[in-house]
Amino acid sequence: MTERCKTCVLPTSYSEVTFDSSGTCNLCRQARQPDSPNTPAHLPKQESSELLDLIDKARKQKGPYDCLVPLSGGQDSAYVAYLLARHHNLKILGVNFDNGYRSPLAIANMESISQSLGISLITLKLNSSLLHRLYRHFFASCGYFCTVCNAIGYVTIASFVARQKKITGINPLVAGGWSKKYEYQPGLSVLSMQSFGEILMRDPSLYQGLIEDPLIDPEVLDALIQVGDIRQFCTTEENSRLRLVHLPNHMDWDYRQIAETLQKEFNWQRPDSGKDAHFDCELAPLQDHLKVKRFGFGQMTIKNSVLIRDGHMDRREALNRCKQEQLEEPAILQTILKDWNMDHKDVGWDAKWAE
Ligand SMILES: [Zn+2]
Repeated sequence: MTERCKTCVLPTSYSEVTFDSSGTCNLCRQARQPDSPNTPAHLPKQESSELLDLIDKARKQKGPYDCLVPLSGGQDSAYVAYLLARHHNLKILGVNFDNGYRSPLAIANMESISQSLGISLITLKLNSSLLHRLYRHFFASCGYFCTVCNAIGYVTIASFVARQKKITGINPLVAGGWSKKYEYQPGLSVLSMQSFGEILMRDPSLYQGLIEDPLIDPEVLDALIQVGDIRQFCTTEENSRLRLVHLPNHMDWDYRQIAETLQKEFNWQRPDSGKDAHFDCELAPLQDHLKVKRFGFGQMTIKNSVLIRDGHMDRREALNRCKQEQLEEPAILQTILKDWNMDHKDVGWDAKWAE
């Protein structure tokens, strides 16, 4: 039986946290301090004034649309689109990066939300053979592949924005639903853009493939793989290469209320299994399995621990949800090994995950 923090559900085996004599982890202790950035009170219930300012400015620009929203078919990005279109009356252009493994639910959700909100949606997909070669290269080199989607997703969307800028003369605001608090996992999260670049360059033909792809702006790719931290690149400043704001960093992101709203407003669908973390991607169970295999726990444990600290979930429910972690090797592994032309032995199971 896993030993866990007495307040949240982080296991004592997690090397990034420390435990006091009462069995409480340092993150929970910090969260109790009134001036801690991790306390729920730190984030305003509604949109922060900084966010409202950005929204106002976006509305005043005289472009073909006010704001670009990357949609994945998952809940967070859908709620961003809903909030900005319905509550702030922004004219939105949705943009979807197709990683080749979008789930049918994600596609249906994107359809229904773009229809209901009356927004146009662009899907960007690199050619499959290049994508598969990229996945194979990363899976073999570091035993992990989500890097491809994260990094190439950024590069593809930033390339799209660069071209839009040339056409419209406007540097559009891009509004996302990524939350550092929920998604970033110290010691488990992979990868700066720089190490992405470093691993990519081990096979120069992949870099060549990317700069020759009509969806990629070579200048954007070069600039992005030179920065250590993607956030240097994505500020809300006017002259930023990607004027990116993530809404969950600017307001309380109450996932229950968000799920209820989406279900009420749209024909929103969730997986029956209750396994709703990243259900937008068919590779998510494998991603989780790789984490569990390596660290003994995955995404569910980290996310639910944050929800407990924020007062959005009680410990009993979190413990129940932790049972959903993917202990078994999921069937999708066989599919992708075939897609990516690999054998089980080609995978870098023990390779160091990039930092
Ligand atoms: Zn804790």
